[in-house]
Amino acid sequence: MKKATQIIHSIPVDELTGAISVPIYQTSTFVQDAPGVNKGFDYSRSNNPTRLALENLAAKLENGHSGYAFSSGLAAVDCVLKLLKPGDEILAVDDLYGGAYRLFEQVYRGFGIRIKYIDTSEIKNVIDHINYQTKLVWLESPTNPTLKISDIKSISKIAHRYGALVVVDNTFASPAIQKPLDFGADIIVHSATKYLAGHSDVIAGLVIAKDGAIGAKIKFFQNACGAVLGPFDSWLTIRGIETLLLRIEKQSENAFKIAQFLATREEVDKVFYPGLKSHPNHEIATKQQTFFGGVVSFSLVDDDAYAAIKYCQSTQLFKLAESLGGVKSLICHPASMTHKTIPTEVRKANGIQNSLIRLSVGIEDGDDLIDDIRQALLLIKQKKYAINFGE
Ligand SMILES: *Cc1c(COP(=O)(O)O)cnc(C)c1O
Repeated sequence: MKKATQIIHSIPVDELTGAISVPIYQTSTFVQDAPGVNKGFDYSRSNNPTRLALENLAAKLENGHSGYAFSSGLAAVDCVLKLLKPGDEILAVDDLYGGAYRLFEQVYRGFGIRIKYIDTSEIKNVIDHINYQTKLVWLESPTNPTLKISDIKSISKIAHRYGALVVVDNTFASPAIQKPLDFGADIIVHSATKYLAGHSDVIAGLVIAKDGAIGAKIKFFQNACGAVLGPFDSWLTIRGIETLLLRIEKQSENAFKIAQFLATREEVDKVFYPGLKSHPNHEIATKQQTFFGGVVSFSLVDDDAYAAIKYCQSTQLFKLAESLGGVKSLICHPASMTHKTIPTEVRKANGIQNSLIRLSVGIEDGDDLIDDIRQALLLIKQKKYAINFGE
């Protein structure tokens, strides 16, 4: 079955009523026939039919054994970290999502978890830094916001030799673009807030386990710690996933055009997009991904934060906001927004310059989006916001 058909038909028809849309079981508890005798559900923290439909859908889309839905992407990340014990080590991609970095550094380091950050787009770094204390190799591919790509297959092989599990935060790609478990990863996390739900109307997270042993542990922590996704938000996420492939196709097409346009502009210094031949990981992106995704980042000539902030306030269609993956285009300035919790030296070392701008490209008409980007470039140039265009 092809991907588009698989997505739509992985959403079940309600057996009880024939409802073609998954019913929202807005209930906390379920009446039992006798103590402990029930219809598969007893209390909605432990299990809820609407959430279960989403969890099964997520597992199918990622070719996993089982899925688990959480009240946010960070709650999903947090649940995976509960697999660790004091003294265990995480080998993480250096360009990590800011909220995950804060959780690693300000919560789990205090519990005795050690974390090392490396550029995982270079296999050699993984080989040099992995050891027998490494329990998790934590990847994001593409990363946020410089869109580095890591070779999931090669890294999984190395990690497994050391008995470490490979976790891929697949938020930026989504299963419409890549399925990390097929490349040997063990666990997937998603901020379903982004591409999966896709309409900027819900906060949600998912964990997908490769096998039953990992799944059972995640299920235990999900119930024991309790950050579950509610029935209505589960329904919204399922509803979003129905159009995942259409959205990803259009967003990727628009983003590619925008990246090509930006690459021709004198106001722009670097363009980050895995679809461009100039991207350092273009080759592995081509092998690992079916589309290049909807996020494009770029920096301005003269690395000036003020000019970048002014730029972000000068677009009309791209709305200034955190987050990404929705149908409406968004723009943000990572240094002062999404990545402000990362110390300046660490941020700069990871290639997030002061003037870096991140676009989350929506499903609007691509030419309209390019017109908007052009007018904003001309505006900041006219006003000479601390930019010297070599004149
Ligand atoms: C947004 C995001 C998260 C956190 O998800 P929330 O739903 O905001 O809690 C984790 N990882 C990545 C890559 C993200 O973009």
